[in-house]
Amino acid sequence: MIIAERKPFDEIKQMIQDYPKVLIVGCGTCVAVCLAGGEKEVGILAAELRMALELEGKKIEIGETTVERQCDREFLEAVASQVEQYDAVISMACGVGVQFLAEMYPEKPVYPAVNTTFLGANEDIGFYTERCSACSTCYLALTGGICPVTMCSKGLLNGPCGGPVNGMCEVDRTRPCAWCQIYERLKQQGRLDLLKGVVPAREFRHKPAQFIHPAYKKKFERPQ
Ligand code: SF4
Ligand code: SF4
Repeated sequence: MIIAERKPFDEIKQMIQDYPKVLIVGCGTCVAVCLAGGEKEVGILAAELRMALELEGKKIEIGETTVERQCDREFLEAVASQVEQYDAVISMACGVGVQFLAEMYPEKPVYPAVNTTFLGANEDIGFYTERCSACSTCYLALTGGICPVTMCSKGLLNGPCGGPVNGMCEVDRTRPCAWCQIYERLKQQGRLDLLKGVVPAREFRHKPAQFIHPAYKKKFERPQ
């Protein structure tokens, strides 16, 4: 899932303090799980803003709503009438959701309330770890299910470098060396022969990426 964290309160307040009516839109998916931008976080931010602005003598109406996913047009269409009533919008979704919301309602200024940080796993409540960099060429079949692009500090496709000491990474001695872990995993599975091959350099990935599911090629593909 996408991991994000809420921006500092003062930064958010600064962005919206000149609008009479502001709507906060949460997202009920990834950012809700990582406690950054779900319904509960929308309520907390709204309450904090109301209190802080009132103490400053500012009269700003703060509205609240949360959609299931902000990266999905159908859920954003459902808040059209609410967005219409406000002067600006705070999105508590990841950067994808913020951009999609801004694109759907281009006449409204849309401000981000969270910083999107990485693609990660939900280890426990409040604890998330990065696992994938969305490199578009997955190497996990060759590396025992441990991502070399993300888990190795240098993103080496052929490792380890010369730096690990007692299985720990030379860039950060508190972290295990991903390539030592890959070696141990492959050894455990009797697949060490995979390390004899050399993985060629990754193709440069053009951005922004686009993917059309094969079943929908006729519908969406445009002639070059
Ligand atoms: S190799 Fe790593 S970064 Fe690339 S897709 Fe697989 S898990 Fe993600
Ligand atoms: S010590 Fe291991 S994890 Fe750290 S940079 Fe070298 S190969 Fe990558």
